[in-house]
Amino acid sequence: MKKKSSKEPDPDEPLCCCEYLDRRGGRSHIAACCCDCEDLDEACDRWMKREPQKPDSLSQVVATVTDRLRVPWLTGAKRIDLSLLPPLILLPVLLHIAALHLLLGIVVLTLLPGMVLWYYYFTHRKKGRTLFFLSLALFSLAYMYYLFITEVVPQGNVSILQMGVVTFGVVLTLVSLTLTKRGPGFARPCSADTHSTITYHTPLPDRDSAQLDGSRHQVVIASRGSPLQQKASKVVVEADKEQNDIVRKNWCHICRMVRPPRAGHCRICNTCIQRLDHHCVWINSCVGQANHCSFLMTLLLFLLTSLYGISLVLRSVCPHENLLTALLYCPGVYDQYSSALSFTCAWYSSIVTGGMLHLLVLQLINISYNVTEREARLAVREKTGRSLLWGLIIDTGLYSRGFCSNWLEFLTMGSDSEPTLTDLV
Ligand SMILES: [Zn+2]
Ligand SMILES: [Zn+2]
Repeated sequence: MKKKSSKEPDPDEPLCCCEYLDRRGGRSHIAACCCDCEDLDEACDRWMKREPQKPDSLSQVVATVTDRLRVPWLTGAKRIDLSLLPPLILLPVLLHIAALHLLLGIVVLTLLPGMVLWYYYFTHRKKGRTLFFLSLALFSLAYMYYLFITEVVPQGNVSILQMGVVTFGVVLTLVSLTLTKRGPGFARPCSADTHSTITYHTPLPDRDSAQLDGSRHQVVIASRGSPLQQKASKVVVEADKEQNDIVRKNWCHICRMVRPPRAGHCRICNTCIQRLDHHCVWINSCVGQANHCSFLMTLLLFLLTSLYGISLVLRSVCPHENLLTALLYCPGVYDQYSSALSFTCAWYSSIVTGGMLHLLVLQLINISYNVTEREARLAVREKTGRSLLWGLIIDTGLYSRGFCSNWLEFLTMGSDSEPTLTDLV
């Protein structure tokens, strides 16, 4: 076999753990991350010659740098998503600063949620996908657990059993999160299970479905009834108003398919999801038919573990105070840095837990009324739902069959990827 030159690598040769295909399709090595950056060279050259930069020169340099930030992996070096990094640096730094003094604690613990919310609305508006929130959630859980083991347990007020319960809770939360991340259940177009296949000729890919004029659309129905009917497979009919309302409602002009009712298109995941509830930035995935139960379980496990952990921390750093008031009044807690850090983390965990509790309450209400978060938002926008308790409860009245039946349906809805007959238009 002819030995190949290192300058002309075989493109079919498998990548070693430190090699990768760069954004231009060339084979590269992570050891060469600082070599041959043509974009940077050109930008520097222009800067030294005092020539104006190209409009995209900065974005090209950034794209090259982010493309070269990689870690070795079995199937070739993997790219590091830069949005993973800020929580890993900022969270420990800010919590340690907050533990220095009560006033610093108040400032940091007020600014931190504010910054996270601002970044959430910033990315939400751009419909961008980011790993920042998943990284923050996972790292917060890991870091709180690490501080619990290294700062609280050594003080001697936590028994082995209590430590075991917290550890078990953290493990169960992570297992449940892994199940949730397996996927929300992607919607599929009408398939062979249906009694008829409907082909819509009129969708305009560059127009929003809401702008379609239903009265002018025609549908082709390929009937799957009797053999005679099958022979006459395509019958062109003028769709009536009601039919076109359903078309308009269920047609996804991006996925180019008629999705089952209750499915929705996620503009962040760029796909249609079965019984879409919402896109959750904290798990970087949609919550839909297949993972809604495990999502609720993750929330519940996280809340129980977090509340138990906070109570253990407060009992340890404020042993003489009432558990319910210790978070607000704990004299002498800033005398020792270790107890101040534990107290600050208890406050941080309480803020996160409060947010999660709010989300859990909304979820429980929605499930009880058999309404998804998406349907509730649409009902508010289109003023078609019944709003109760200052908007906390939105009842669309479309799918609710009573409290017990709604919960039974929720717990048994499973992960069917194919819509049932009654789900179709
Ligand atoms: Zn879609
Ligand atoms: Zn999504």
